[in-house]
Amino acid sequence: MAEANNTPYPYEAPVSQGLFDRASVVTPGGVNSPVRAFRAVGGTPRFMVSGTGPYLTDADGREYVDLVCSWGPMILGHSHPEVIAAVQAAVARGTSFGTPGEGEVALAEEIVDRIAPVEQVRLVSSGTEATMSAIRLARGFTGRAKVVKFAGCYHGHVDALLAAAGSGVATFGLPDTPGVTGAQAGDTIVLPYNDLDAVRAAFAAHPGEIACVITEASPGNMGVVPPRDGFNAGLKALCQDNGALYISDEVMTGFRTSKAGWFGVDGVVPDLMTFGKVMGGGFPAAAFGGRADVMAHLAPAGPVYQAGTLSGNPIATAAGLAQLRLLGDAEYAKVDAVSAQLRTLVSDALTKEGVAHRVQNASNMFSVFFTESPDEPVRNYDDAKGQESFRFTPFFHSMLEQGVYLPPSAFESWFVSTAHDERAVERIAAALPAAARAAAEATA
Ligand code: PLP
Repeated sequence: MAEANNTPYPYEAPVSQGLFDRASVVTPGGVNSPVRAFRAVGGTPRFMVSGTGPYLTDADGREYVDLVCSWGPMILGHSHPEVIAAVQAAVARGTSFGTPGEGEVALAEEIVDRIAPVEQVRLVSSGTEATMSAIRLARGFTGRAKVVKFAGCYHGHVDALLAAAGSGVATFGLPDTPGVTGAQAGDTIVLPYNDLDAVRAAFAAHPGEIACVITEASPGNMGVVPPRDGFNAGLKALCQDNGALYISDEVMTGFRTSKAGWFGVDGVVPDLMTFGKVMGGGFPAAAFGGRADVMAHLAPAGPVYQAGTLSGNPIATAAGLAQLRLLGDAEYAKVDAVSAQLRTLVSDALTKEGVAHRVQNASNMFSVFFTESPDEPVRNYDDAKGQESFRFTPFFHSMLEQGVYLPPSAFESWFVSTAHDERAVERIAAALPAAARAAAEATA
C-alpha cells in the first residue's frame, strides 16, 4: 500500500504525488534518504527532473530557486557547463575500471594542494565511508577504542556515531536507532557541543582510552552552530595532551566555507580530516586524509583495512576535479556575498512580521532559528532544539508554493551557489513577506 499522507497541505504537485505513491510501494518511506520525505514539514516531496544554475524543475513542471543545492555539493549551481563537459568526456572513456587511474591522482593532488594538514588522502564514495574509515584508522593507530563525538553533530550513518546525531535524526525524533548494538555505541562518548570542560572531564575519566575526538569543523546538522572562538583549537590541544587524534569532519564545510574549507577559516590543524559533497561535483566522491604517519597505517601500506570497488571512480573524480578547479577566491567571494544578502532579506522579512528569530552563519552556510531569545547565540543541540520549529513548517510551505525550495527541516543549513544571481534573489525576496507572515501566524 502506498503511504497515506495525512498533512493539511493540498496536493498541488500531482505528478510528484503519483511518483511518491509508486516509490512508497517499492522503497521504505518512498525515498532513499530520510529527510527527502518531507516528514518534518508534511506535504508531497517534490520529485525533481532537472536543474540549471540556481533552479530546479519538478515533475509537475514547476521551477524553484534551489536553496538546498543537493545538501551542499552544487556550489557552482546545477549543470555547470564545464563540469558537464568533464563528465561527458569521462563517460566516453568508460565508466569504471577497477584499476588506478590518473583522475584519482589529480583529485588527490588538488585536495593536498588546497588543504595544508592533508599530506595524504584516500578517496571513498560517501561522507559516511570517510568518517567510518577515519575512526577505524584512529583506533588502529592509537590502539584505543573510545570515540568522543558531540550531540547534534552528524557524521553519516556510521553505527558508532549514530548517537545524538542531529538533523535527520533530530527531525524524526529518534534519540537512538534500533539496529545499533550496545557494543557498537558503547565506546562512543557523546558530549555537549562547544563545551571544552566536558571534553577535559571525559579525558580525565578515561585516561589512555580515547582514540579520537570527531567534530564537524563547523556544525551544520543542527542548523548552523559555529564553534566558539578557541573551541576547535582547545579540542586539538586536549587531543594532543592526551595522545588522541583530532578528526575534523569537513564533509559539509570542505571546499564550501572557503577554498580550504573551515580549516581555511580557523587554521586549526587536525590529525585527520574528512571530505565529501563539494569535492564530488554532484557525484559520489568523498575522502579522508591527514598526517602521513597516520595514513601510512592504512592498507596496503599498513595493517588497517579499508577498500572500495568504486573508490576514485573516473566519472566522479572528473566531476569533482572540474568543480574544484573552477572554485577560486572570486567564486567564494560571490557565494559569500549572496549568502549575506539572503541572510539580511530573511531577517528583515521576519522582523517586519514580528517573528522572533536568529540567523546564524558559518561563511556562506546559514540557517534560521525561530528562537524566542534572538540575542542569545545557539551554541549547542539543546539550544537548537529549543526553537519554535512549528513556525518553520508554514514558512517552508509558503516558500515552496512561491517557487523557493528550502531544506525541508528546521535543523538544516541553507546552501547557495555562484549561480544564484539577481533574478534568483529577487524571486526569494518576493516570496519572503508571505512566508514570514505564515510563520508569524503559526501556532504550536
Ligand atoms: N559528515 C557530515 C558533516 C555531513 O553533513 C554528512 C552528510 O550530510 C556526512 C558526514 C555523511 O555524508 P554522506 O551523506 O555522503 O554519507
